[in-house]
Amino acid sequence: MSGIRLFTIGGIEIKMHITFPLILIVAAVQFGFLSAEGFSLSGALFGVVVTLILFVCVVLHELSHSLTAIRMGFPVRQIVLLPLGGVAQIERMPERPGQEFLMAIAGPLTNVVIAAALLAIGLPLQVGWLASLRKLALSPGELGWQDTLPYLVFTNLMLAAFNLLPAFPMDGGRVLRALLATVMPFARATALAVSIGQGLAWFLGLAGLLSRNIMWILIAVFVYSGAGQEGRMIQVRSVLRGLRVRQVFSRRAQTLSPNDPIDRAADLILESFQSDFPICDGKQIVGLLTHADIIQALKRHPPETAVRTVMRAEFPTARLDDELFEVHRKMLEAGIGAAPVIDKGYYLGLLTERDVGEVYQLLSVNPHLLGQRERE
Ligand SMILES: [Zn+2]
Repeated sequence: MSGIRLFTIGGIEIKMHITFPLILIVAAVQFGFLSAEGFSLSGALFGVVVTLILFVCVVLHELSHSLTAIRMGFPVRQIVLLPLGGVAQIERMPERPGQEFLMAIAGPLTNVVIAAALLAIGLPLQVGWLASLRKLALSPGELGWQDTLPYLVFTNLMLAAFNLLPAFPMDGGRVLRALLATVMPFARATALAVSIGQGLAWFLGLAGLLSRNIMWILIAVFVYSGAGQEGRMIQVRSVLRGLRVRQVFSRRAQTLSPNDPIDRAADLILESFQSDFPICDGKQIVGLLTHADIIQALKRHPPETAVRTVMRAEFPTARLDDELFEVHRKMLEAGIGAAPVIDKGYYLGLLTERDVGEVYQLLSVNPHLLGQRERE
């Protein structure tokens, strides 16, 4: 996921997705129109400021996931802020229940700690907690600057509670799986956690329909599909488990040289099954030309243009003994359907989406096809 880099903490890049400012506009409009006398500028400003502070809390939440992950040896690439929250991109997820539990609980716990700290700050300030709470519940149009602390305490507690919903992709789904996985195998624990999450989604959706709460219905859809995705991912992982790149990649993939024209790539697409091409200078890999790159290049450049000028220089690569599942995940994240296989800088072949799909299908029907696999 790309975004605009804001800053770096402890080696973790914090980025803002291009759509992030939308939430500030929504907050300005929503809070601005809360007051009874039409649009209020100070209401809008209040909305923007508390939303910004809330996102500082979201960053702290994601940072605590990330720092816990790093401490346990799981690299973290970045944290991306989206309009509806943050995402910490952790390279590998732990399978040991204890590790998953700590990593998942760290986020919501941070919001509880923030709420407690804000409460403590408010104690000597004579904050009217009850009056603010009443406004929050009954007449949000009257919220003003004096309600900032209670508002932030309340929203942090809500954030913690929401994230602890026992359903993927919420932190609570991971907490639930970690707890289940202490008494049953990981795959069974995942399947059960997915079912519980989807059951909860049905319940939320129905409750939302009955009370005409569109927010609950949206959350229900989000939770339902998130749970299904997690289930499928674990299914794929359990089928591909133990497989290495060397067992699957295409050794005879065609390569292009940097000086070949683009239309040579187009010819190769037509006369072979291949659609992505490694660009090699001798035995050295120097670039990758995906199917989409070729189409784009043909749209914008004359067909005799050298591929050197249109190839991409950044792409996922794989080594022979890399875990297939992990390389495939890198490919999905990069949005690129191919990864050149290299050894000490030398090109050996190409791993494609099609290779992974085929081995997945074959092993789904017969798990013993590639004999030397270590099973769970
Ligand atoms: Zn979280």
